[in-house]
Amino acid sequence: MYQANSNRYQKMIYNRVGRSGLKLSAIGLGFWHNFGSVDPFENQKRIVHQAFDLGITYYDLANNYGPIPGSAEENFGRIMATDMKPYRDEMIITSKAGYEMWDGPYGNWGSRKSIIASANQSLKRLQLDYVDIFYTHRPDPETPIEETAEALDQLVREGKALYIGISNYSGSQTNAIMKIFNDLHTPFIIHQPRYNMFDRHIENDLLPVLRENHKAAVCFSPLAQGLLTDRYLNGIPDDSRAAKSTSPFLHKEQVEQTLSKVKKLNEIAKQRHQSLAEMALAWNLRHPEIACVLVGASRPAQLVDDVKALDNLQFSADELTEIDHVLDG
Ligand code: NDP
Repeated sequence: MYQANSNRYQKMIYNRVGRSGLKLSAIGLGFWHNFGSVDPFENQKRIVHQAFDLGITYYDLANNYGPIPGSAEENFGRIMATDMKPYRDEMIITSKAGYEMWDGPYGNWGSRKSIIASANQSLKRLQLDYVDIFYTHRPDPETPIEETAEALDQLVREGKALYIGISNYSGSQTNAIMKIFNDLHTPFIIHQPRYNMFDRHIENDLLPVLRENHKAAVCFSPLAQGLLTDRYLNGIPDDSRAAKSTSPFLHKEQVEQTLSKVKKLNEIAKQRHQSLAEMALAWNLRHPEIACVLVGASRPAQLVDDVKALDNLQFSADELTEIDHVLDG
């Protein structure tokens, strides 16, 4: 039977989420990859145990994570019902709805029908009474934002979610839905955008909106799915995400296109006595609005490395300029 490390809260940093009462571990664990029905369950358990032992409190799921869609929630639900059951109140467990999940017009996007049905399905798969944060996974161009916001608000009123988040909304879309949440008194606290050295689109669009409104971000793919690590420095390993047919968003061509920049960034990381993954995570966390960086892991050791990022979060102006120079090159 799993026994959590009694020192787990000693090294992790916990950041407040905007002006809410909630704090999140600066590093969170995502379940997009490596937790599906195709992945060994024993390894999944070891990754979750390692995360918890490192003081990670944030666990990020969605209805469609797999493959097969739903299997990541099912697998995590099995872990929660057994080993992790005593620790439920030490964990922030989240889910989302908004990408295609089941056949027909209701298994996708952000109607009241889709969101409520999807959240009910997720709770069953997770074997939980409630999630801590429920997200709309992406803006729906056809459903009125009032309807999406009211459906999320209803989840909170029904006790199925404690807080509400949004994901992949632009700055102006965030402003629009935030007004409705304010009117409804919905506990909307967090945004989940993509952010990493290769994708800086939120810097001028979303981050100012979050700053002004005292909201926080939890950023996904901070390592650009593994590109911003030492994983691909010497080619594409067989067991990497880029080599898997189930990973349509990371191709051999992308790896090759970024390699010269990755090598230069790796040299800067070495000067800082960090791995490239550590430096990439620290670089994301330099923004005060970013409460948490959400990593994926295919093995427990990667999490041990990722958490070491917290040992050196400071960047000199020269280092930041040097990094910008590589990225702009
Ligand atoms: P990352 O950018 O952190 O990529 C994770 C991958 O990087 C791992 O699978 C592993 O690759 C590699 N890696 C991690 N740590 C190390 C290390 N220390 N050394 C070497 N390689 C390392 O994040 P993800 O793209 O996985 O996204 C994280 C989470 O964000 C998801 O699981 C999901 O919860 C969420 N997300 C949300 C989205 C949204 O629309 N809201 C969209 C996408 C993700 P390998 O497997 O090859 O070993």
